[in-house]
Amino acid sequence: MQFISTRNNSPAVSFQEALLKGLAPDGGLYRPESFPDLSRLFNDFSPSDTFNDICQKTLSSLLGDELQDDQINRIINRAFDFVPELKALAPGLTILELFHGPSHAFKDFGASFLAAAMEEFLLQRDQKSIILTATSGDTGSAVAQAFYKKKNIQVVILYPSGRVSPLQEKQLTTLGENIVALEIKGSFDDCQRMVKEAFQNKELTKLLPLSSANSINLGRLFPQSFYYIWTQAQLKRKDIIFTVPSGNFGNLTAGLYAKTWGLPIKHFIAATNSNDIVPLYLNSGEYSPRPSLQTLSNAMDVGAPSNFERMLSLYDHKWDSLKENITGISVSDEETRQTMNAVYKKHGYLLCPHTAVGYHASLDYLQTHPEAQIVLLSTAHPAKFLEIVKETTGKDPEIPENLARLLSLPKHSCVMSPDCKELFTFLKDSFR
Ligand SMILES: *Cc1c(COP(=O)(O)O)cnc(C)c1O
Repeated sequence: MQFISTRNNSPAVSFQEALLKGLAPDGGLYRPESFPDLSRLFNDFSPSDTFNDICQKTLSSLLGDELQDDQINRIINRAFDFVPELKALAPGLTILELFHGPSHAFKDFGASFLAAAMEEFLLQRDQKSIILTATSGDTGSAVAQAFYKKKNIQVVILYPSGRVSPLQEKQLTTLGENIVALEIKGSFDDCQRMVKEAFQNKELTKLLPLSSANSINLGRLFPQSFYYIWTQAQLKRKDIIFTVPSGNFGNLTAGLYAKTWGLPIKHFIAATNSNDIVPLYLNSGEYSPRPSLQTLSNAMDVGAPSNFERMLSLYDHKWDSLKENITGISVSDEETRQTMNAVYKKHGYLLCPHTAVGYHASLDYLQTHPEAQIVLLSTAHPAKFLEIVKETTGKDPEIPENLARLLSLPKHSCVMSPDCKELFTFLKDSFR
């Protein structure tokens, strides 16, 4: 399988190259050139297949022309020592918990896979890489954990000062070793812009082997499609509707890819907070990116979702096809809090604010589609958003032990203004 740019102006590359480059040279995002039909493979999966079995067989069908089975198995087994879990919570509503990995957010799936694959490829080629990534919270912590002490890899993470939760900040800033945290005095959009400009700066990319690890990297998208496939193998239903709490739309795009490979998925619900650019597009056909608004679900505070290009490209820029597959629903902070509270009171189950956005959107959809079978992707452990969860439900979430330990460690960050020149100088001085 080959990979091409969403902007159609770059040569096709292998999976390894797409993964190590991050962004295509024309500024577009890598996407598969073609979509093989894997429906027979998917149909043969059963509830007794393990998550890792499903990952290995799927990946081998997709990339067997490029990677050997022993390479694939090594990558998958190094990446995933944690698995998703399903919890049936209410009629027609099942939660897919994706927060049992090292940073307790779904981004662990993408980041762990990417880290394991990059280390494998770099060691084999005897090359080094500097990973530059912007985070609104959860990407950075998953990336930091996944790449910690990985050989031949240096990681630089940009995060918006004061706009990530205290625990997220600890996850970014306490590891040290090959992980550097840059605290940017600006918004997440500033961080994302600085990273994009670094990749587009010819002088810098000539000097330094830059690569990305945020959701624009194809190595993050592929593994995110695995849990849609695993869920279908567990439930063996052809009428599942997935609700995806969305910000940069990497998670949702991975689901769209799985569907295009032949996974029987009935529909998707794209749940956003008040950063409702994609729901507005789905309703009106108008795409109007704008500066992000700050909300309770801060990992979804995105005003110009980077994977939107991949979604358009997948459906040949046809609004009708996108609308047929996805319903967009936007949820306010007030509704988010009401949902967190109501679900705790009714089911004794704590939701993180992001998952609560998805929960509210799912209930909305169930009102007009009472027969719907919804699987809601739960994107983070409630303990990652301690203050909000406590304040809203009156209940202290149980803190996983590895997170509790972080709270007492000292923070190490380098404060920087939202200025590309400052970033470029820092990178050159540190790593040339
Ligand atoms: C990143 C993130 C999201 C949004 O995922 P995208 O792939 O960017 O749409 C939702 N919830 C949490 C907890 C996240 O960290």
